[in-house]
Amino acid sequence: MSNLFPTYARWNIEPDTAIGMKIISTAGKEYLDFTSGIGVLNLGHGHESVKMAVMEQLNKYWHVSNMFHSSIQERTAKMLSDASGLGSVFFANSGAEANEAAIKLARKATGKSKIVTCQQSFHGRTFATMAATGQEKIKTGFGPMLECFKYVPFNDNDAMIAAIDGDTAAVMIEIVQGEGGIHVINQTYLDTIQLHCQKHGALLIIDEIQTGIGRTGKPFAFQHYNVQPDIITSAKGLGNGLPIGAMIGREKLAEHFNPGSHGSTFGGNPVSVSAAEAVLKGIFKQGFLKETVHKAEYLKSALANALKDAAEVKEIRGLGMMIGIECEQDVQEFLAELQEEGLLVLSAGPKVLRLLPSLTVTETEIDIAVKKIEKVLAIKQTV
Ligand SMILES: *Cc1c(COP(=O)(O)O)cnc(C)c1O
Repeated sequence: MSNLFPTYARWNIEPDTAIGMKIISTAGKEYLDFTSGIGVLNLGHGHESVKMAVMEQLNKYWHVSNMFHSSIQERTAKMLSDASGLGSVFFANSGAEANEAAIKLARKATGKSKIVTCQQSFHGRTFATMAATGQEKIKTGFGPMLECFKYVPFNDNDAMIAAIDGDTAAVMIEIVQGEGGIHVINQTYLDTIQLHCQKHGALLIIDEIQTGIGRTGKPFAFQHYNVQPDIITSAKGLGNGLPIGAMIGREKLAEHFNPGSHGSTFGGNPVSVSAAEAVLKGIFKQGFLKETVHKAEYLKSALANALKDAAEVKEIRGLGMMIGIECEQDVQEFLAELQEEGLLVLSAGPKVLRLLPSLTVTETEIDIAVKKIEKVLAIKQTV
């Protein structure tokens, strides 16, 4: 019997060691990891520069509290600021906490309370971010939700226009809905949101927790579009596996988060922030994301080619290294069969296979993965 709350339907695999794109299980089986710990290990398992930065910090000290000055926090905040064009950073421990900070800041800065989010969105599991999430299954059984959230269909201009009014503090959106099935936002929708936010004095919050830190081929996914958010949130890829989140906002919002208005004991922990600093140095360095874009295009076209006759496959879509394969049937069986073949992938909703490889994946590893996917999805076709 397990002493853990059964909050996860776990796979029948226990990792022993992991390096690069590979996980070796305690049973001695080798897996190619196209999950990256759910979009976390953008530099792969055991990345040397992250490990070195963490070990160096461990040798100095690993916690002192935010009563002290921290040049690692300052340097890392500067990198996030330079990469996003937004001047002020708050460090948290997770994605949900980064979104909590964004929700609180938007309400305090505007003096208003309503927040518009999208159906099929995912913003976290805390009490506020669960309410922000536009999926019933996340909220079932928890009683009445916070009432300040309003949900609109994704990429529906008219519904968004109708939802934003004088009581709206913010619109919170994902550029690519990750958990919601790999749906990519369109420019006219962003234009509409931006125009109506400005008209009503509402802030635009972009949840970049899954899409950020190079995942889509730009430092942040909003940079594929013509849009200027007021706040973005980051987590997953930021620490390459060390727990950290960040809320990054316009400098003019800084006055609303003064001493006493928000905080976190562990937020900005030096070990996690030293990992983040090493991650940002690696991912934002000259040429790295250009190569990511190239490999992501290689993956997408290899998939399109391999699956062009697979009757099971409805659509392949995504942005950069965030790819969804929508199938005709429930994909849980495919996940299990791919595991048998030695390939780990995720789902996003019942019918979408989700690929989130590390950005360091090689073309050879992509070729191996695509062969396995082709084998499993093609077999289904003939059943
Ligand atoms: C994973 C995720 C979150 C929640 O992050 P946690 O670190 O699990 O709290 C929020 N928003 C998006 C878009 C995510 O993908």
